[in-house]
Amino acid sequence: MPELAQTRRLTRPMVGELIERHGLQPSRALGQNFLCEPGVVDKIVRLSGVQAGDDVIEIGPGLGSLTLGLADTGARVTAIEADRYLIPGLTEVLETAGLADRVTVVHADAMHLDWGELLGGRSWNVVANLPYNVSTPLVLDLLRDQPALTQFLVMVQHEAGARLAAGSGSRTYGIPSVLLSYWATARVVDTVPNSVFLPRPRVASALLKIERHERPLIDAPFDRYATLVRAGFGQRRKMLRRSLAGLLSVEQIEQAGVAPTDRAEDLAPEQWGALAQL
Ligand code: SAM
Repeated sequence: MPELAQTRRLTRPMVGELIERHGLQPSRALGQNFLCEPGVVDKIVRLSGVQAGDDVIEIGPGLGSLTLGLADTGARVTAIEADRYLIPGLTEVLETAGLADRVTVVHADAMHLDWGELLGGRSWNVVANLPYNVSTPLVLDLLRDQPALTQFLVMVQHEAGARLAAGSGSRTYGIPSVLLSYWATARVVDTVPNSVFLPRPRVASALLKIERHERPLIDAPFDRYATLVRAGFGQRRKMLRRSLAGLLSVEQIEQAGVAPTDRAEDLAPEQWGALAQL
């Protein structure tokens, strides 16, 4: 692929050729939708703010579409890929583009990885076109367990992005947004049509910028907060005095300055925090 050596970007014909020549069958279970639009790669890299010398984690590099853009900035990229069948194609792409020395490829499942060993004491950016089936739990687990991951620019399914970034009062406000708020702020910074992938996913995607708070927003243990939030939204049409019965009394709910007749979706993260502090 002589063009790749010059442009250091993958186009649709190149991604198609790699799939064919490496005998790949993109797996829906692994969320394999490969980016094949260099302009979108450049936009993601720009929005991520990644610069030369930064340490970047990419989850699910696939055939390297985004990895090329990240390594091209001069950043050091650690790319974690679960599917071993993609790794020969990925390695070929990075070597042809002359960027292999800036990328460490790790063959592992990001959901079951010894992250502590990988991250050491440094702080890292996460930039990824996430596998859609695990995007929400993966983001929430990494925020909870890996404080070294301080900034995220991730592509997720449009609806998952809206749910993670929603504020109280919004139609998409729910468990993911309230749990995320404990650790970070999130906003959708752009949307991406399904036409820029091969194969095409069914729905559009969102680019989500997540910035970790210096310290958690809530001054109460996360597990306690999460238990209350899950109980409240588990019965989201019910008033809190019903949905939280067994966890908090009506008097305790009032003591936190919350109306027992409110419903889960009426409460801002800080109010969930006040309940968790009891
Ligand atoms: N970054 C590539 C791109 O933009 O073209 C591929 C993105 S594709 C949406 C998701 C990638 O994540 C696939 O390469 C898939 O094999 C990989 N993947 C799926 N589940 C994973 C997991 N649990 N851990 C690491 N990688 C995973």
